[in-house]
Amino acid sequence: MTEVAYTAKKTIKDILAAGVQLTPEALKIILSLKNPAVVLEIVEEAKKASEAVVLTRRDVEEIIRNKKSSVEGFNVQVGRKERGGVASPVIQSVLESEPNITAKDVEEDFQVILDPTSRIGSNGTLDDFIKYFRDRYMRLSNIFLRRGDIKRFYKISEIDGIKEGQIIGMVREISKTRSGAVILELEDLEASIKVMIPEDIAGKARNLMLDQVVCIEGKSNGNLFIANNILWPDVPFNHKPRRAEDPVLAVFISDTHVGSREFLEKPFRKFLEWLQGDRGDEKTRELAKRVKYLIIAGDIVDGVGVYPGQEEDLIIDELYTQYEATAKYLEDVPDYIKIIAIPGGHDATRQALPQPAIPKEYGEPLYEIGVEILGNPAHFRIHGVEVLAFHGDSLNDVLIALSIEQSQPQKAMVELLRGRHLAPIYGSTPIAPEPVDFLVIEKIPDILHCGHLHVNGQENYRGITVINSGTFQAQTSYQKSMGLTPTPGKPYIVNLQNLKVTQLEFA
Ligand code: FE
Repeated sequence: MTEVAYTAKKTIKDILAAGVQLTPEALKIILSLKNPAVVLEIVEEAKKASEAVVLTRRDVEEIIRNKKSSVEGFNVQVGRKERGGVASPVIQSVLESEPNITAKDVEEDFQVILDPTSRIGSNGTLDDFIKYFRDRYMRLSNIFLRRGDIKRFYKISEIDGIKEGQIIGMVREISKTRSGAVILELEDLEASIKVMIPEDIAGKARNLMLDQVVCIEGKSNGNLFIANNILWPDVPFNHKPRRAEDPVLAVFISDTHVGSREFLEKPFRKFLEWLQGDRGDEKTRELAKRVKYLIIAGDIVDGVGVYPGQEEDLIIDELYTQYEATAKYLEDVPDYIKIIAIPGGHDATRQALPQPAIPKEYGEPLYEIGVEILGNPAHFRIHGVEVLAFHGDSLNDVLIALSIEQSQPQKAMVELLRGRHLAPIYGSTPIAPEPVDFLVIEKIPDILHCGHLHVNGQENYRGITVINSGTFQAQTSYQKSMGLTPTPGKPYIVNLQNLKVTQLEFA
């Protein structure tokens, strides 16, 4: 047996052990793969699959394609006003498809799918909170119940005396025993139960977060429910992202923090010059011509009174004036590019999630230049591709809970998709108890766009392009004290026709 064949066979064994089945054609492809690294990545993908999945030939091909098409290179410098020059292979791949098309000649195609702005109205009473968590439970358990593999489902109150089954509950407590097993307190609408996750599958419990709704497979022993598997609502293994018919591009930025002393005006101006076609080599200019959408995921301005002593860090100390200054910059964006913006914690709207759009009272200068201002989160469609834009307020909680490095924001975003909720942990990120939980990811986006952490990160998770677009603000003294090194001035650019991603650097 050759080394390669051995790896492929071992891979198939690992995939089956992860609960994933293979069709004969999928099996054939895996056996024929020459690159063991790709094979191992398929195992990783298979391990992430928490439902009973049958991997088809198309799925395996999609995994291989996604692995190849996620960002292949970074830091294409757009420093000087170069003429000519050689484009990086990444830019070339983003540009591939019909040449000579400019966004100017293509009609805008934009629809809002979900914006909480007009539907917000919680009073924040205890009763509202009870209703909110019931709604969260119902929505997430319905996602489970729509799946084909939840066939032995019982309410927690029914499970006693039943040999084997599945229960769906909200995680209320997580603790560890000395032997390394994990104990959960799981609650549904009527009852709660202690769940023991034995050592051999305790590794899976590492991705669990408080207040998440999960499904546990196992059996009751009278006192405890002994788990043999943990399932997250997750996104389907084979999500086929929608694609635009025209080869237009969308640019993703966030956390500009206009008004702050640390706002990086020069890099932001360079970015605007690039959008106007006045900066970069021939290929990067070509890229600019194709841009049809500019999406800003919150913290547009630095705000006023967001934290104690903020006055010291501001060069514009009035909210309206901060938006006025932002509008002056954004006026330079060519008018055929549609700008879509949502608020973040620094913007002039309520802090608790979901956030309504910035009101005209403050955001008027942006409304006047035609910026489409939505709430946070907002789900919309651009040229057929669905984008879920969320500022990312909860990402700090996820980093801490799951010990994810600050330099890997995309990993925390993947956990939001796995749990199908944008702010799973209740407590430090303020959530308003709306009767409808707008933070449940009911509809699967093709692109999930966040900011907030001021660090860039990108990956492809089961066909979904996950982007954290960084910032245009230099390191603040607060970030310095927290040991956070931002990655400013590096927007992502996505070709909406082939979903290839590239990144430019303006800092
Ligand atoms: Fe920010």
